[in-house]
Amino acid sequence: MADLYGLLGLDRGASQDDIKKAYRKIARELHPDVNPDPEVQNKFKEVTAAYDTLSDPQKRQQYDMGGQGAGGFGGGFGGGGFSDIMDAFFGGGGNRGPRPRMRQGQDALIRIEVDLNEACFGTERDITLESAVVCQKCEGQGSANKAAPAMCPVCKGRGETQFVQKSFLGQVMTSRPCNNCGGYGSVITDPCRECGGDGRVRARQTINIKVPAGVETGNRIQMAGRGEVGQGGGPAGDLYVEIVEAEHEFLLRDGDNLHVAIEISFAAASLGTSVQVECLDGPVKVDIKAGTQSGTTIPVKGKGMTRLRSTHRGDLIVHVDIATPNKLSRDQEKLLKEFASSRGEKDGEVKIKGHKEGLFSKFRDAFGR
Ligand SMILES: [Zn+2]
Ligand SMILES: [Zn+2]
Repeated sequence: MADLYGLLGLDRGASQDDIKKAYRKIARELHPDVNPDPEVQNKFKEVTAAYDTLSDPQKRQQYDMGGQGAGGFGGGFGGGGFSDIMDAFFGGGGNRGPRPRMRQGQDALIRIEVDLNEACFGTERDITLESAVVCQKCEGQGSANKAAPAMCPVCKGRGETQFVQKSFLGQVMTSRPCNNCGGYGSVITDPCRECGGDGRVRARQTINIKVPAGVETGNRIQMAGRGEVGQGGGPAGDLYVEIVEAEHEFLLRDGDNLHVAIEISFAAASLGTSVQVECLDGPVKVDIKAGTQSGTTIPVKGKGMTRLRSTHRGDLIVHVDIATPNKLSRDQEKLLKEFASSRGEKDGEVKIKGHKEGLFSKFRDAFGR
């Protein structure tokens, strides 16, 4: 068992004032902010624990009695004695103790809306957003004069404070993060007036985002190190840009393919024609064969969407609808009747279609029948 008086360089007759002075002097040399060496930190813990005991008159009396072999100290701890109590103080050598002031910054997520054209060909955006950036005044240190943080006078640099809790075992030492220093073990005595000691400030910044060709809703672009800067000048998190694709006026996306519906006249469908269909590349020529039926689909190769991370493009699928003429003039009505009779069509004539023919078969397929 270490001699607590010896650790502080004192003898048993030392006054409370002597103990305080001795501890302050040693702590200044051993504090983790001054000397982060693990061995020195262990020594610092030992000295701090010694001070904790000796600065409390009741604990000191118990220690003095135990030290003299009177058996008073640690009696309730199953004979484990002093080292068990030290473990209780320091969490059994786990990673307790002061938490680092410098921390990794948060990731950030923003959403941007792109239209179908931008999603297909890629685009660039300048986005202005508010984020945490390094405080220029203190360079992230948090101190107005760039002085190192001073040891917290409440927890003596441990980042946590102990208190006695009554339990069925008797009195138990418990610890919680120090309120005075927020668990850092040190305090910034003269905080930077720009950031209040946080080492970072909120500022608007403009970020250039490159959206690759082929993105779709839900895709995320990761921009490493463009998130929030960490506390105390810690490294920045990442910025994620999530894509939201705006609906197009008449083009419908299905993966790499685009769909468009057109309507042509009954005469044009019968005779065949060539039409210009607007797509992402501008107007594209689509040939309608003579005798085209309603519901026909005509694929146009390579006029669909770009596949992400490739130059391949899907197809534009043109869905053809035939418009039945209505609001006929007397002349047109006459012509149509002549047309029907020339084809041998009779009034009331109907043809029942099989399962595999026409639009109805498509409905059946869609319902999985
Ligand atoms: Zn600052
Ligand atoms: Zn503290």
